[in-house]
Amino acid sequence: MSAPNLKANTGNAAPPNPKPSNFIRDIIVRDLEAKKFGDAQVQTRFPPEPNGYLHIGHCKAICLDFQLADEFGGKTNLRFDDTNPEKEEQEYVDSIMADVRWLGFEWEGLHYASDYFDQLHAWAVKLIEAGKAYVDDLTADEIRQHRGTLTEPGKNSPYRDRSVAENLDLFERMRQGEFPNGAKVLRAKIDMAAPNINLRDPVMYRILHAEHHRTGAKWCIYPMYDYAHGQSDSLERVTHSMCTLEFTDHQPIYRWYIEQLGIFPSQQIEFDRLNLTYTLLSKRKLRQLVQEKRVAGWDDPRMPTISGIRRRGYTPEAMRNFVAAVGVSRTNGSTDFAMLEHFVREDLNKRAHRAMAVLKPLKLVIDNYPEGQVEEMEAVNNPEDPGAGVRKVPFARELFIDQDDFKEEPPKGYFRLSPGREVRLRFAYFVTATSVVKNAAGEVVEVHATYDPATRGGNNPPDGRKVKGTIHWVCARHAVEAELRLYDKLFTKPDPNDVPEGQEFTANLNAQSLEVATTAKLEPSLASAKPGDRYQFERVGYFCADPDSKPGKLVFNRTVALKDSWAKQEKRGGAK
Ligand code: ATP
Ligand code: MG
Repeated sequence: MSAPNLKANTGNAAPPNPKPSNFIRDIIVRDLEAKKFGDAQVQTRFPPEPNGYLHIGHCKAICLDFQLADEFGGKTNLRFDDTNPEKEEQEYVDSIMADVRWLGFEWEGLHYASDYFDQLHAWAVKLIEAGKAYVDDLTADEIRQHRGTLTEPGKNSPYRDRSVAENLDLFERMRQGEFPNGAKVLRAKIDMAAPNINLRDPVMYRILHAEHHRTGAKWCIYPMYDYAHGQSDSLERVTHSMCTLEFTDHQPIYRWYIEQLGIFPSQQIEFDRLNLTYTLLSKRKLRQLVQEKRVAGWDDPRMPTISGIRRRGYTPEAMRNFVAAVGVSRTNGSTDFAMLEHFVREDLNKRAHRAMAVLKPLKLVIDNYPEGQVEEMEAVNNPEDPGAGVRKVPFARELFIDQDDFKEEPPKGYFRLSPGREVRLRFAYFVTATSVVKNAAGEVVEVHATYDPATRGGNNPPDGRKVKGTIHWVCARHAVEAELRLYDKLFTKPDPNDVPEGQEFTANLNAQSLEVATTAKLEPSLASAKPGDRYQFERVGYFCADPDSKPGKLVFNRTVALKDSWAKQEKRGGAK
């Protein structure tokens, strides 16, 4: 490739994102200038192990892999790193493909490490023939004992000097299924005194009599990650193989196999993992939450999985913007969950239609409004987007307002409704509370008021009178009922792994992470909301219709509150 091609590549067509400087981009530019890979185009891959659902951390890896290739006119493959037959399932493969597409990316090639099992096996034989690999009979424990430590060299296995012929014979018999699990392994013959422990004769193959989700019973020996990954990259002519920092110490072994085999010189580049406060980004731990039924499933809207945040109402645009703002570096850190929520709000503010919804309904009767009359008030769909238009909202004598918007004895600074106080009903009229009806327990169950016809549309009257408070409402006769699911953080601690000795991260689960409001009243335009539709319920928060939602039985998830109530609560020392 001559100069980097900056044209967008329609194959990976996702809207462009801001491009802050990025050390990986600098490496690619340098490599292209030096023609490090000859005329090969930039090729990347996203290589998930299909052992769980993707999470927010994977969003970062996906954006890097796809956007960087795209920027240089290159391509990205999706490759399932399916070398662990026991933990992998088709369900995970399907969800991963759906999640990558949801985020806005389409892969060039779809591959599986298991597609390469024959080639990887042939290469193992080649390494044995070259005296670079041997069959070892030590047990896993013995191998560990022989490995040495960071300060002490390892010891050679007594089987290390087997002849090539014996190694070829034993490896073939391993493949034929002659030996039980764990009886033997194939190891690379490198250096038991290497300062990098990963180079102390790493295991290449282990015996595992297990059915694989794609290759069935064909194999009973399976390659290790380190032996499979670089060679798979090389087969796909991956130029820049991005992975997270924990693989830094594996880079020498990644390179060793490629050099010994003399194959396409794929290059590994490490970047920092995304960590988020109050969140766990580990498939294994997220699987535990699902299996122990701590959450309703992988797509529970409280889960940091891509399927969870999608169901909750987060947008792919918000996720891409967030990941771009987080950037990449060479040191692991932790990103504030509030920053993620900021990007979600920022995006939804631009695109979500507004609607009125009352969480805790309180009847408001306007005594001087004609009985039986209904007016259609005009409401703006999105003040941020004039193109979003207007809708009609019915208004009549009996309305619902939120219990929090009325106080019989208003505290100082409270500008909402109270006896004798005038407020604006959004898009409708000014009303003044006149009296209340109470139940036997002394609670206000109905507020009576009068309205001023001169304020129609919620406009100031000709006398120039102003009000301090504006509240939302829904018409009692036309309101539709809905269940609102209000989510809070899944964990109570910024680092959910921070637990006393002997306890598990599950001890930090937030018992108040889901609150269900079953008596909410919504404006009638929401009756036709379809699962996935997103709204801003004015003054309440952003909401998304849940897949459980049906006509007549609406269910909405709160995507994010309008303001960060958690931070406030924490400051007061009341965070539980
Ligand atoms: P987990 O521990 O959650 O299973 P993983 O690294 O084992 O994560 P893989 O399926 O192997 O998950 O990951 C696919 C790619 O996504 C890898 O390149 C990995 O480095 C990257 N990745 C995984 N977690 C994160 C994260 N938190 N931040 C950035 N990239 C990540
Ligand atoms: Mg993994």
